[in-house]
Amino acid sequence: MAKILCVLYDDPVNGYPKSYARDGIPKIATYAGGQSVPSPKQIDFKPGALLGSVSGELGLRKFLESQGHTLVVTSDKDAKNSVFDRELPDAEIVISQPFWPAYLTAERIAKAKKLKLAITAGIGSDHVDLEAAVKHGITVAEVTYSNSISVAEHVVMMILAQVRNYIPSYKWVVDGGWNIADCVERAYDLEAMNVGTVGSGRIGLAVLRRLKPFDVKLHYTDRYRLPEAVEKELNLTYHPSVEALVRVCDVVTVNVPLHAETEHLFNDALIGKMKRGAYLINTARGNICDRDAVVRALKSGQLAGYAGDVWYPQPAPKNHPWRTMPHHGMTPHVSGTTLSAQARYAAGTREILECWFDKRPIRDDYLIVDGGKLAGAGAHSYSLRKSA
Ligand code: NDP
Repeated sequence: MAKILCVLYDDPVNGYPKSYARDGIPKIATYAGGQSVPSPKQIDFKPGALLGSVSGELGLRKFLESQGHTLVVTSDKDAKNSVFDRELPDAEIVISQPFWPAYLTAERIAKAKKLKLAITAGIGSDHVDLEAAVKHGITVAEVTYSNSISVAEHVVMMILAQVRNYIPSYKWVVDGGWNIADCVERAYDLEAMNVGTVGSGRIGLAVLRRLKPFDVKLHYTDRYRLPEAVEKELNLTYHPSVEALVRVCDVVTVNVPLHAETEHLFNDALIGKMKRGAYLINTARGNICDRDAVVRALKSGQLAGYAGDVWYPQPAPKNHPWRTMPHHGMTPHVSGTTLSAQARYAAGTREILECWFDKRPIRDDYLIVDGGKLAGAGAHSYSLRKSA
């Protein structure tokens, strides 16, 4: 029987909810493009409930314990001698969410002698040292597509909030003011702006589709070009490099995984090539942007705004400069963990676990590392450090 170690974020400060703002969530049959939604044999939770926090347990306890497995759930992951560190050495499976990542470093993996499977309940497995996972024959899987649309909606919201100066205007209201000129001195229309995505996978393409009705000029760059029909439908301009894209865009949104090629991609040099007064929206991973270069660019006016929900490390320390830099629209890492998204990635986690225990293959779309190499979705979108 296996021990499953699940690291989730804390419950709300006032306790686990007893009721919700809405009575349920809409049902989605398939994702755009035809990929099927998670399809476990059964679920033991009500879609729309808070599943991603410690008491929500991703709805897994009944299922795992009925099969004789042990489930340990904790949010204590970073402190010295954390529950995560104490429980890891004999865990066979670790489940973690990118919003509250249990960093599976090479050192931790070396100590986790029984670890065979690391599941990301969500998308983005960069909190796992993939090179170490390859070396130790650990399978890494994530629930591809489960929250891609959740993030795409957040990106559109953040673009509009930045360009239209929403957050400072809201603050004037809350503070009892009516300072119209203060609100509008940095407010613009998005219409006719050049908007580009770095990465046109599930999230990037969904952002492009959602922005099309705003009558903006759409741009993208990616390692692989989109089908011609999609380029035509959305009137897209393809750029062979990130540099070429950022030179012409008023708004840039980052939608690539964090891996060897994208770490600190947005540094002083690249931000310096952007149009003065561009907006940078990063909901992909904090470390794709150089932390201090972003602060410098906002202070100098090279960037008019920066927004996103991803940081390094997470949770961000109280003194992280992105909390206090000018013209930012940061949130904690929340875009991919709406109650709607949680229902999908909890079901996907269950599907992966059912496959694992039944010795059935995990779908290719969910695999990042398997059999000692990048596999499935991971082989397509990730790269390993050269030393691996
Ligand atoms: P996809 O795999 O569908 O898309 C990623 C795209 O990025 C792919 O088209 C990939 O190219 C492309 N890409 C990878 N490396 C490069 C590179 N060096 N240059 C240009 N393009 C590159 O993933 P999603 O769209 O679903 O998610 C993207 C990322 O967003 C995730 O990896 C995760 O980090 C983040 N995310 C954040 C969430 C949040 O809550 N904030 C939630 C979910 C995801 P190709 O595959 O064609 O090689």
